[in-house]
Amino acid sequence: MGYASNGAGRAAHEALLARHDAELRLMETMKRSLQAKMKSDREYALALSAAAAQGQKMDKCEELNGSVIASAWRTMTEEWENTSRLIKANAEALDSRALDRLNTLMTERRKARKVYQEDHSKISSQFTQLSEEVQRKQSEYQKCLESYKQMRAKFEENYLKCPTSRGGRKLDETRDKYGKACRRLHRAHNEYVLLLAEATECERALRTASLPALFDQQRRLGEATASSWKGILMEVVQRSDFGTEKFKEIQNKIESSVQNLRPQEEYKEFIEKYRSPPSTPISFNFDESLVEDTSGKLQPNQLTVDNLTVEWLKEKLTELETILQDNREKQTALQGPEIIGNGVCKNNNTGMTNGVNGVDRHSPPPIPVTTAEPVKLLELRVSERKCARQAEMIRAALAELGCEEAPSGCPDLSAEVVGVDSLDGSSPDHQDRSSLGSKASMDALRLHLHSIMPPKPFFRMFTRPFRRKSVPSSPALPPKTYRSSSEGPSDSVSVSETERSLVDQEWFHGVLPREEVVRLLRADGDYLVRETTRNHARQLVLSVCWGQHKHFIVQTTPEGHYRFEGAAFPSVGELIAWQRTSGVPVTARSGALLRRAVPRETWELNNDHVQLLDKIGRGNFGDVYKARLKTTGQEVAVKTCRVALPEDQKRTFLQEGRILKQYQHPNIVRLIGIAVQKQPIMIVMELVPGGSLLTFLRTRASNLSSRTLLAMCRDAAGGMRYLESKNCIHRDLAARNCLVGDDNIVKISDFGMSREEEEYIVSGGMKQIPIKWTAPEALNFGKYTSLCDVWSYGVLMWEIFSKGDTPYAGMSNSRAREKIDNGYRMPAPEGCAEDVYALMLRCWEYEPDKRPHFHQIYTIIDNIYNR
Ligand code: ADP
Repeated sequence: MGYASNGAGRAAHEALLARHDAELRLMETMKRSLQAKMKSDREYALALSAAAAQGQKMDKCEELNGSVIASAWRTMTEEWENTSRLIKANAEALDSRALDRLNTLMTERRKARKVYQEDHSKISSQFTQLSEEVQRKQSEYQKCLESYKQMRAKFEENYLKCPTSRGGRKLDETRDKYGKACRRLHRAHNEYVLLLAEATECERALRTASLPALFDQQRRLGEATASSWKGILMEVVQRSDFGTEKFKEIQNKIESSVQNLRPQEEYKEFIEKYRSPPSTPISFNFDESLVEDTSGKLQPNQLTVDNLTVEWLKEKLTELETILQDNREKQTALQGPEIIGNGVCKNNNTGMTNGVNGVDRHSPPPIPVTTAEPVKLLELRVSERKCARQAEMIRAALAELGCEEAPSGCPDLSAEVVGVDSLDGSSPDHQDRSSLGSKASMDALRLHLHSIMPPKPFFRMFTRPFRRKSVPSSPALPPKTYRSSSEGPSDSVSVSETERSLVDQEWFHGVLPREEVVRLLRADGDYLVRETTRNHARQLVLSVCWGQHKHFIVQTTPEGHYRFEGAAFPSVGELIAWQRTSGVPVTARSGALLRRAVPRETWELNNDHVQLLDKIGRGNFGDVYKARLKTTGQEVAVKTCRVALPEDQKRTFLQEGRILKQYQHPNIVRLIGIAVQKQPIMIVMELVPGGSLLTFLRTRASNLSSRTLLAMCRDAAGGMRYLESKNCIHRDLAARNCLVGDDNIVKISDFGMSREEEEYIVSGGMKQIPIKWTAPEALNFGKYTSLCDVWSYGVLMWEIFSKGDTPYAGMSNSRAREKIDNGYRMPAPEGCAEDVYALMLRCWEYEPDKRPHFHQIYTIIDNIYNR
């Protein structure tokens, strides 16, 4: 390495010392690190041993006998224990050997440094001594030379004074001194010469032999240290090697115990041991006592097709066919197009390919189970079988009917009492016929009814007022008494009351939602009449509070009269009046009596009092109009619901009114009422003159200052703060669903998706979700809280400050959703202040709990606004 020849200089000497020091520091570092490693190895060994002990606490039950999984697991945990021991042993070895050796090496290295330093300074001091000696000799030489020169001068002087005699004492003395000085000079000269020769030799020896030897020795020592050091590191390597034979052995044991697992044999022993005959099928038998009193109209295990059920059956069939179609599509998607229904190929006639044909009604073939088949597919097949079976029964029953009209479900409609006190407003119950009169008397009664009342189709009730022409309404006249067309009641009822149009009846609530009805009927005997649609036909329902809430469908006789169980009347008003005054229960079974008519509330407006003026918008359910209330002359906004929409949609439409009814806040659009007596049903609201905020922003916001935009955000936050305090989740907050009033006040509107709950989980499909406004947790898990509204509020702020731009412009809904999940957030709109944007970002925190609540948002905006 040239250590000896090149390393003899001062710089090399100093570098060598520094190297010693650096190595010692490295050893110190290694020592600490190895100690930490040993500690962590020991801890890991301990934790692994605990895990193994935990794993070994296996259920020792007999049922696991023969389970290869259990035994593989046992092996695995035992081997973990062995691994733990090995790791611990390695850690101990590191401690007792590697670390020990490292300590010794450090001591030796320190000693070597000391010795080297001593040796080096010895050599250095020899150099110094030599130089000093040469110096000394040189000055001695100098002195001798001086003395010689003096003596010589004196001698010459005396010699010249006595030239003749050339003698004399004085001369002799000076000659003598001169001679001595001369000798001393010569000796000093020689000594100096000799010393120089010695010094030269000595210096050469030190420089070319001693120092190199010292460095050479250092090299050897360094190499010896490095070799020991390597030994120590090798030891560390070996003690940290998890690939050693011992570890490999453990790993192999574990691996082969798991490899030995044969899934097909796993349950062999268990099955052998616990084999038992298959469970006997549960049979669901028709309880024939149920139809004993139905005079053969209803047969056990047979569908009844009559005028009461035919429409329902047809609808049910359509519903089942839709489900089957849907089911088949799902199956196809799951397993490919060539196999459908029961996993049997399409062309295989033995399969239930059309969901009905080929099904043995009594013993359907078992559904084949393939082990590789997803559970979902099996579920679909079971569901398919259920539906197919029902559909087949219905089809067969309807086929028997052919083109004929469905027979009457009631043998004698005019006389049979048809109760409808079903709680869910479903089909009428068939009452106990034993309570009816004889067949003869019923026939007589029917003839009588025909003679006094011409048939009146049910729908006419809705197209003209319930007014009996024969008995003119005249408040001036004293009330006439009226005898019912049936043999039943003889009580007198006020004609003036019965003759009023149904819409004018205070107890007629139109299509008021059922939830509202339930709310209105509080005490026993409270009643009202409302309208509902079943199987595309409108029905009138009498709702009564009697212990619970009961709903009776008003029956129509072929003559167009109205009745429950008792007498029939030409108008519903008369029927209700008679029920109330007669004290006869609506149906015998319910015992419900009518005591107090519940009038419409002030918010239940009369459709005729709403005069539609101009169309001002288009909503999801129908057009929105500017309108006038005839009663007060007030200008209002009216949302109408398209007549053709299905009943459930109409109910959803009214939901908005129901929610809004309770709220009073300057930043929430105010509800004036609903008008549900006639079609189209309407929601009447305060007219907010600026219309939709989105249109407003796009058309007029260019003139608005940032301060005004901020005030708009504050308004919206105020409205939302109010809703949050009422536990109302809006779920569709966006500029398009806010309105702008006078002085640019913003009002939250469109409560069509709102829910009054703290947390609302959507379990069904999430159709029509405003993806770009909806918080990730609502999109991903269907979980809605007010903090989801906060997310939407952030987007609303962005819309306001970007003056009506489309959020995530240029991105599809799914792309925007994906990007948001990956952390993307919209950049600040142009000119938007930093603190406003910071608030938007807080609203868009992925974790809902990190978002601010509306009261905080309001305060933040208010502070920015007032700054
Ligand atoms: P939907 O809830 O059925 O979607 P919206 O509430 O969105 O209906 O109303 C549709 C449009 O009608 C709005 O964009 C707005 O222009 C107008 N509008 C709705 N309510 C009012 C109101 N109270 N005052 C003024 N205009 C309104």
